[in-house]
Amino acid sequence: MTLPASAAAGLDEALALIADVPDFPEPGILFKDITPMLADHAALAAVVAALAAPGRDDSGAVVVDKVLGMESRGFILGAPVALALGVGFVPVRKAGKLPRATYAVSYALEYGEATLEVHQDALEPGDRVLLVDDVLATGGTARATIDLVEQCGADVHAVAMLMELGFLSGRAAIGTVPLTTLLTI
Ligand code: AMP
Repeated sequence: MTLPASAAAGLDEALALIADVPDFPEPGILFKDITPMLADHAALAAVVAALAAPGRDDSGAVVVDKVLGMESRGFILGAPVALALGVGFVPVRKAGKLPRATYAVSYALEYGEATLEVHQDALEPGDRVLLVDDVLATGGTARATIDLVEQCGADVHAVAMLMELGFLSGRAAIGTVPLTTLLTI
């Protein structure tokens, strides 16, 4: 989607603060370190406004009931997006971290498997949900989270990501769910 001018202000300067760290956490990975961007108030405010935009319609009215953030940088970005939209925040966590009854989805990693969970009572059937995370890489995390939302009987309204690693084709994993990314690499 095209961001409204109010949501795009200061975004280029904010995204320029993301640092590239070669060979972290293992050789061959170019890690996108968002901590310098988070540490800058104007940059953080610009990014939160831009990630919140897919939760509004053209008139600016809020059209989602919850924001979901994926562990762990999705928590940092998703909670202020939820506040900006005036809705609640729901964490999607790695297996074994949530204390009450959960739904779980497992998905393949390059080596092995990962499982994500959400509390069974975190969403009401029919809730419209905005997913927020920092990086869309293979799309496995986003796909698993969409599946979790569907297990809850809720609807994914949109996915909002800080950046997309285009060469990994994560967009295909998301299917027809609208995707907003602030930066494509
Ligand atoms: P994926 O499931 O492959 O789309 O990976 C997405 C998750 O892995 C996100 O939660 C990111 O935080 C993290 N991630 C993947 N690749 C990178 C990268 N190059 N730099 C920083 N984080 C990454």
